[in-house]
Amino acid sequence: NGHIPESNIDVLIIGAGPSGLMAAAWMAHCGVKARVVDKRNTKVFCGQADGLQCRSLEIFDSLGFGDRAWKEANHMLEICMWNPGSDGVICRSDRIPDTIVGLSRFQQIVLQQGRIERFFLDNIKKYSKDTIKVERGVLPESLEIDVSKVEDDSAYPVTVKLRQLSEEEATPKQQITASKVNDGIFRSNLIVEDDEDDLIKKSQSRGGSSEIVHAKYVIGCDGARSWTRRALGFDLDGEATDFIWGVMDIIPITDFPDIRMRCAIHSAENGSLMVIPRENKLVRLYIQLKEVTPDASGRADRTKIAPELIFRSAQKIIAPYNLDYQYCDWWTAYQIGQRVAPKFEAHERVFLAGDAVHTHSPKAGQGMNVSMQDCFNLGWKVGLVAKGVAKRSILSSYQSERRRVAQDLIDFDHRFSRLFSGRPAKDVMDAEGVSMEEFKDAFEKGNMFASGLSVNYGPSTLIVKSGDAAEQGDGSKVAQSKATQITADAFAKRQGLATGIPIGMRFNSFKVLNQSDARPWHFQERLKADGRFRIILFAGNVLDAAQKARVDKFCEALDAPTNFLRAATPGGAPIDSVIEVLTIHSSKRTDTELLRDFPEILHPFSEQHGWDYNKVFVDDVSYHEGFGDAYVNYGVDKERGCVVIARPDQYVGWIGELEDFEEMQQYFEGCLVLRGTQATNGQTLAVR
Ligand code: FAD
Repeated sequence: NGHIPESNIDVLIIGAGPSGLMAAAWMAHCGVKARVVDKRNTKVFCGQADGLQCRSLEIFDSLGFGDRAWKEANHMLEICMWNPGSDGVICRSDRIPDTIVGLSRFQQIVLQQGRIERFFLDNIKKYSKDTIKVERGVLPESLEIDVSKVEDDSAYPVTVKLRQLSEEEATPKQQITASKVNDGIFRSNLIVEDDEDDLIKKSQSRGGSSEIVHAKYVIGCDGARSWTRRALGFDLDGEATDFIWGVMDIIPITDFPDIRMRCAIHSAENGSLMVIPRENKLVRLYIQLKEVTPDASGRADRTKIAPELIFRSAQKIIAPYNLDYQYCDWWTAYQIGQRVAPKFEAHERVFLAGDAVHTHSPKAGQGMNVSMQDCFNLGWKVGLVAKGVAKRSILSSYQSERRRVAQDLIDFDHRFSRLFSGRPAKDVMDAEGVSMEEFKDAFEKGNMFASGLSVNYGPSTLIVKSGDAAEQGDGSKVAQSKATQITADAFAKRQGLATGIPIGMRFNSFKVLNQSDARPWHFQERLKADGRFRIILFAGNVLDAAQKARVDKFCEALDAPTNFLRAATPGGAPIDSVIEVLTIHSSKRTDTELLRDFPEILHPFSEQHGWDYNKVFVDDVSYHEGFGDAYVNYGVDKERGCVVIARPDQYVGWIGELEDFEEMQQYFEGCLVLRGTQATNGQTLAVR
């Protein structure tokens, strides 16, 4: 292979949809060398996913573009349920809030996937200083893992041959080529064939170029028909249903009163419709197609499906209201099914994420969110391990944490989509029909799951809680270090120190004030996605002498040359590069002084930049934005406080007393590469 170019890369990401871009964003934010390839020549411009959960917005905010999505999106505040009345005509039967009140500082919004991909691309460009770009029209041709090298931290054990496509080869075919309207059938699950082999052959026969890449890690984010998954030999487990749904993005002309609300409409006999009001006057309709059914092979004939047929179905469901349109932005159709992969990784060197490992119906607006969240879980782990900051053993937690979420998603979708596709029951004796009470109940319960905020990770090296470590795909248990194995009693005691900060869940947010300038912040805004672990010191009442002595002692241990904080920090790097310490105290802001009352390690000094004024916060009343009452809401004792470890993805890993320093030491020994020698921090030492 003398003339095929070869190169090394830390991380190769295959597929630049929402999950691949999330993985790339982490590499950019962690400063890891990465390449991203996608077989298509453009990103998505219209259609596809549009719903964004609260949790996805919190994540966007931690990456730095939550404001862009929030501003451009349509905000959905209410869900209206429409069901047949006693005369069989549809009427509004219920209204519920779209997002459970008080759950997050964000509510659910809708914006098309293409805009979200744009925000990611801009963010990746900025944080990678334009070094990570999506290479379009490029796809993998072969993938091999050198198993003898997988445990070697410095090795590049995954070899991938990449092939460059021509412009034409990389352009997806539209269903109706004469139409000006974009369709998404080429990405729909109504298409069974995989075009990779074809594309590769075409490129080979015209002498197209290829190259060989040796990667430390590969992340396969190549969607529902994932080539990477097939290369690893994993099949999706699950089943398809007979329900076929169409999707249209239109500007509707209608007398239906709730067209700007999210609606679930069950007609008596003509199927169901979901209305999703969108940005720019668009409305997305999810329309059950009763006239199209799968053939004997279980597959629907996609050539029969056209926008006219889909729209006629919508008109029947929404009757007696009129529905029409002049402008259609995009349409597609899909067959409902729920599938999940048995394994999410091979040798902890090749990982799969997003639709590549779980597929389901799009109506609950979960796919893009859960797919991005897979890579929000995985990206920092791979990034920190590739950089030599974290231990390889943390990688096993990806599959254990995310496979369970995928299974929950599949179960949720299974129940939800059957209730949605079923005919409404005529009365209580109608056993074949779906009870509308049950549907509403499922919808309300589903709302918690659908917010993305119910995720609660099990015990691992990264999450110190009691209970059985999660099983891996092969039946073995996920790695737990000594520090992370605790009894149920010990766990209850720890959780009792901060009842509002559940261990294993994402760090909840309440407002606190910056001690130095009195500005209110939602505390989560301080937990940026920059690859750093965080220690949150609830310092309690620092004006009490005994409590102050506890804080001083804690800080002395933190500052000691041999302890984890310095041992985790590379020589010469600022002391907060790997682990950042943030403080929230409960004394009155105006009675306390940053330099007088807080040890230096809580607001480190640099010769060039002076003290760090962004690390100490106070739970006090603000001038303009009320009182966050953070200690009460977090369930932390105002006098004694406690200490919390948050992972780089904001999930809570450990809670302890200020005296439990040794356990923190063990936590970080379990997951980070600690240098035996003292890391020099010229900046801090200079003032001593
Ligand atoms: P994809 O978005 O499929 O991205 C995969 C990428 O990999 C593509 O860019 C593709 O070109 C590339 N690729 C594929 N094969 C190769 C290869 N061999 N080599 C290189 N590159 C390759 N989700 C929501 O959260 N909310 C919604 O409201 C919602 N609505 C939806 C509506 C519809 C009609 C559909 C079809 C889906 C909807 N989804 C929704 C689901 C959502 O679109 C997907 O779950 C999400 O796009 C998955 O992201 P991904 O990055 O894993 O995969």
